Amino acid sequence: MPGSAVATGCIQPEPLRTGKTPNEVANTRIEAQEHERAPSLLHRSAFHPEEPPRRPHCDAELMSVPLPDMKALCLMSGNACAFPDCGERLVLTGAKGEQTIIGEIAHIVAESRQGPRGASALSDDERNRADNLILVCAKHHKIIDDNPHIYSVQVLRQIKLDHQHRIAKATERAIPLPAPILNKEQVHSTLLRLTSVPAFVYAAPCGFNDKQVKEVAERIHYPPEGSAEIVPFLLRDKKLYAFHDLRKARGPFEGLVDARKTEPIPIRDFWSDVEGCRRFVDLLNRSLRRHCAVRGVRYDSVHRRYHFCALTKGEERSQPYRTLTGKSYERLVVWQPKRRKTGEARNYWCHLAAGLRFHQMADNQWCFSIRPERHLTKDSETPLEADLVGRRVTRLKARMFNAAYLSEIQFWRDFLSEGKPRFILSFGRQSCIVETELIPFPAEWPGVPGDTKSFTHQVFEEDLFSFAELADAMGDKEAEWEDGALTETNDDED
Ligand SMILES: [Zn+2]
Repeated sequence: MPGSAVATGCIQPEPLRTGKTPNEVANTRIEAQEHERAPSLLHRSAFHPEEPPRRPHCDAELMSVPLPDMKALCLMSGNACAFPDCGERLVLTGAKGEQTIIGEIAHIVAESRQGPRGASALSDDERNRADNLILVCAKHHKIIDDNPHIYSVQVLRQIKLDHQHRIAKATERAIPLPAPILNKEQVHSTLLRLTSVPAFVYAAPCGFNDKQVKEVAERIHYPPEGSAEIVPFLLRDKKLYAFHDLRKARGPFEGLVDARKTEPIPIRDFWSDVEGCRRFVDLLNRSLRRHCAVRGVRYDSVHRRYHFCALTKGEERSQPYRTLTGKSYERLVVWQPKRRKTGEARNYWCHLAAGLRFHQMADNQWCFSIRPERHLTKDSETPLEADLVGRRVTRLKARMFNAAYLSEIQFWRDFLSEGKPRFILSFGRQSCIVETELIPFPAEWPGVPGDTKSFTHQVFEEDLFSFAELADAMGDKEAEWEDGALTETNDDED
């Protein structure tokens, strides 16, 4: 046995010694009995039951490992050498089924204070506990003991820990989880349904180039003040695209386009290519910007979100709305946050904001999404520097949980529709109708733990005005379809 064995302190199946606790005595007895049945795990040299192996390098007075510690160590080692990438089996089975134990116990802090890795505050007893032992093959036992400068106490502890993790992971039982209790409920999305979109997009040659949006906007014949009609348009490839019928002699684009060369494009044809789809969404977005602008909500193209503007610089702004429970309430939409403790105003302004988008869900299905956001400014007008915004807004949003999130969505749908069942983007004879009911989905799911707040969908009720608006929007829409049908019939007749 090499001299290094001193440090490893082999465990002896030796006769009982004095000075042991009764428990240790009992353990040693069991240990001794076990040794009689199977060769020792503990020695490099062959084990002879009749003649206990000599342990020249182990102090006879040193303690043995208590059996529970030994068992724990062996079981947690998974019959494999703990040395990285060794994996040598520690109990070998021979051709005739005979078993040979080749595993050895090495001490992490040496059993002897004079041995390598021996200097430690650990007591003699602690040195022989499972915590301080590592099970390895003979080869690695020698490597460890011959190179204490490499295999320090810390390194060995890590090697042991890594090995035990590997074993635990490899033998992990797939414990079947108890089936979660599923709730059947209606989940409300943050999506609103579009029940009507324009049937046609009109394209007509235009004398202005793609960048002359301002020039065109200045020449439009806008509907009289107070009218809800929106006049969105796009300039692409020397053509003007609009939801307004450009064939009509009198219209918002009179004199801006060559009306006779107007091309009515059925909406589905327009959507059929990616670019057409993009242009359609662009027209809708321009309409929405207008719809919001007249309500004091501005679109910020940098962040692609809408935010409330101060009506007077440096003055807070509030907006009445109906809460989820149907109560009338007024909330601040532009405000200067105050320090909670001192009431002192902070050096930035908060504006209620939202990401508002149109999405195509299926061939002929569109929806509108609301994502609550915040817009920050220095003085209620000038945007805050980007590096200051990110952190603050992220923190604000991170604190916005389900209930707060829903109540902001409620706010936006109430605001956009003015408390009506829908909001209508009107383009004269065509329109886009967005229902304010959040699209519900039936869901069978475990639910959100701790989210006990029940959500009742606040339905905005119809009144005479909303009915009239809808009739208007739908009536014209139907007429438009009839026009289309008529055109088709005419084509057939040709
Ligand atoms: Zn090994």
